[in-house]
Amino acid sequence: RTVYVNGDYLPETEARVSIFDRGFLMADGVYEVTSVLDGKLIDFAGHAARLTRSLAELDMAAPVTMDELLTIHRELVARNGINEGMVYLQVTRGNPGDRDFAFPDPAKTPSTLVLFTQDKPGLAANPQAKIGLKVISIDDIRWGRRDIKTVQLLYPSMGKMMAKKAGVDDAWFVEDGFVTEGTSNNAYIVKGNRIITRNLGNEILHGITRAAVLRFAREAQMEVEERAFTLAEAATADEAFITSASAFVMPVVQIDGTAIGTGKPGPVASRLREIYLDEMRKAAV
Ligand code: PMP
Repeated sequence: RTVYVNGDYLPETEARVSIFDRGFLMADGVYEVTSVLDGKLIDFAGHAARLTRSLAELDMAAPVTMDELLTIHRELVARNGINEGMVYLQVTRGNPGDRDFAFPDPAKTPSTLVLFTQDKPGLAANPQAKIGLKVISIDDIRWGRRDIKTVQLLYPSMGKMMAKKAGVDDAWFVEDGFVTEGTSNNAYIVKGNRIITRNLGNEILHGITRAAVLRFAREAQMEVEERAFTLAEAATADEAFITSASAFVMPVVQIDGTAIGTGKPGPVASRLREIYLDEMRKAAV
């Protein structure tokens, strides 16, 4: 695989980042994951906009312009012959040459930019979409700025492991009795023609897929309610689903052992998945 590190395209075995890099020592960095379908990038503009915001919130400089970033994405997709898969991008606060809590002077310490591709043939035709996911709920003990897409993914990783141990696919975080989001996705329930998902704030990541799916839902005359919901409300919902850049729209059929609706993927989630994939393929760059 050819990867990108700070201006260079290299074989992955030759790519190097310092042990003093603040991404490595402090999880001081942000990331984006952009899907590739038909060899093209899905919603690159959305991911670039969120990256710009994440960097600004952490007082980090953008290492390259968003136009240059698009070129790097495309170059990696081409060099690695990716038809379906993902491009992972990470920006960290660079290598100050030592360990110190205080941020280094950005003029002396340029940020570190790393990108690599993940080949996922069959990503769009994922058979899981016909089966749905089972999830458990777990306490949301993450920090208070989940709107920033940082590489601090230890607790979400632990959540995935708790799910695995429980014999299910994923976990939904719950805080003060309300669902915030999934370990790596936004969470939704459906009641009749109404789609309910957590309102934006510091409590959840502002999903790029979420924004597109809510737009398509409104265009398809579905009602959208952006508000917090409880597990009890989810248990009596007609459907549930999640969204993310790599899972697109994925039905959720069980929460904490309780079947949601019929216990099978519902029509709203299935329809939104279809619309999302169709529309985003057309708009891909
Ligand atoms: N919430 C969390 C916590 C996530 O990690 C992700 C995916 N990285 C999402 C939501 C979904 O965001 P997106 O649709 O932009 O992939």
